[in-house]
Amino acid sequence: MDEAYIDTELCTACNECLIINSRIFAYNDKKQAYVKDPKAGSFRDIVKAAEKCPVKIIHPGKPLDMNEKKIEKWIERAKKYN
Ligand code: SF4
Repeated sequence: MDEAYIDTELCTACNECLIINSRIFAYNDKKQAYVKDPKAGSFRDIVKAAEKCPVKIIHPGKPLDMNEKKIEKWIERAKKYN
């Protein structure tokens, strides 16, 4: 998968990903998180959310902007969640 996604049905609504970026991540009508807009923030935010997620259901995919600062580092850290 190239695009970031969440295994939404497994979300425990802990709020960690929304604290990191509530424009990228949002809750659906069952209060389970999904990727609302991957362009609304950095790949770094998505990877950090994947690392914080207690049930490890956030999959960062590939960065949308390869010019983002320290992108190689974030790609490396994203690997174990994809
Ligand atoms: S961090 Fe994980 S469990 Fe918590 S709200 Fe986000 S997707 Fe759900």
